[in-house]
Amino acid sequence: MVATRKKRKRRVKKEKVDLLIINANELITLKGGSEGPLTGRQMRSLGIIRKGGLAVKDGRIVAVGKTSDITQEFRAENVISASGKTVMPGFVDPHTHLVFAGSREDEFQMRVEGASYMEILDVGGGILKTVRETRRAGVDRLVDFGFKTLDVMLEHGTTTVEAKSGYGLTVKDELKILGVIKRLNQLHAVDVVPTFLGAHAVPPEYRNSPQGYVNLVVGDMIPRVAAKGLASFCDVFCERGAFSLEQSRRVLVAAKNQGLKLKVHADEMSMLGGAELAAGVGAVSAEHLLFSSDAGIKAMAKKGVIAVLLPAAAFSLMTGRYADARKMIGSDVPVALGTDFNPSCWVENQQLVMALACHFMKLTPAEAITAATINAAHVIGRADEVGSLEVGKKADVIVLDVPNHKFLGYRFGVNLVDKVVKSGRLVVDKEASTIKTVRLF
Ligand code: FE
Repeated sequence: MVATRKKRKRRVKKEKVDLLIINANELITLKGGSEGPLTGRQMRSLGIIRKGGLAVKDGRIVAVGKTSDITQEFRAENVISASGKTVMPGFVDPHTHLVFAGSREDEFQMRVEGASYMEILDVGGGILKTVRETRRAGVDRLVDFGFKTLDVMLEHGTTTVEAKSGYGLTVKDELKILGVIKRLNQLHAVDVVPTFLGAHAVPPEYRNSPQGYVNLVVGDMIPRVAAKGLASFCDVFCERGAFSLEQSRRVLVAAKNQGLKLKVHADEMSMLGGAELAAGVGAVSAEHLLFSSDAGIKAMAKKGVIAVLLPAAAFSLMTGRYADARKMIGSDVPVALGTDFNPSCWVENQQLVMALACHFMKLTPAEAITAATINAAHVIGRADEVGSLEVGKKADVIVLDVPNHKFLGYRFGVNLVDKVVKSGRLVVDKEASTIKTVRLF
């Protein structure tokens, strides 16, 4: 009888797939998050499968479940055993200034010694220094730099990023940067979603007529960017010393009329009303939000605007102030996390961002994971493709060398990534790295 049963079992034909990932101590699916960004208590429900596994074919996830069920139904030549490890969706970084030239380590020292961001800007430093260097840089140099940065991001588990222009501030240079972003998306395994941020700073040649620069952004840059299909989103730096509420609104309305989706750098250094503006113009997200008012948070909740919090940027500003994430989550504002990778906040690593979010904004590890995956995917319009491990989605999967999700935020300062699978392909493998340690005793 037993033998007959065994025979029957053997006869069941297993479907051949390209890759199996099995035996995960915890497999974090974030199932159900594709419909809309997660809010409140939902941000803690990660859809964890113990002893979980998944099957991948043609770059897509074809099954997710218990390892015993997966291995009964599927076979593959490539099998990753994640025994004792955590498997989850690749991180999505929804806010980066990926393409620039040069660096600003001298200003970092000034900041350590007490200079403020605006004081540095006043002496021709900050964004304007990077603008000068980026204007001088050729396309190849910018592509090379962006490519290396994406490598570092991928090594740290990020499989989809948003990238903003904004260090050109002329028609020619903004188009150059967006062209570089397009090229990077074609060349690199990481998917890159482009955002036009012509209204990042008033360039020196418009110092005495900022309105003239806004006219250029609205009348010339946005129509060209939209016509060439070089950006999915338009962002604006709404801040004292950058663009006023009214100027920001003009830029955003013009972009919306050209079919671009909207984002706002809001309330980073002062309570200007950027959160209310984002809600008023129907933006997908408002970002930074260190100084947002209660009314602004309420308005965001009402309109479903996602709060993109950037604790590494707050950390870099060294003021000790962080966005009030608990108030936002308590008010049912969906929260996402990003690096804000840029020359004054040089961080590629979403794991560190999550640790900062836990330590300084009191997100739980589960909330931080939701914020850096599915909610971040909603911020850049990719939640139907990435951000959770569900059948039909892209197989963007990371294996972390920790036994459970609570290690994210808890163990920090090292890279927890063991493997990265991007669109079904193993692109990072720590086991295959050349580092060899020798046991002496
Ligand atoms: Fe930014």
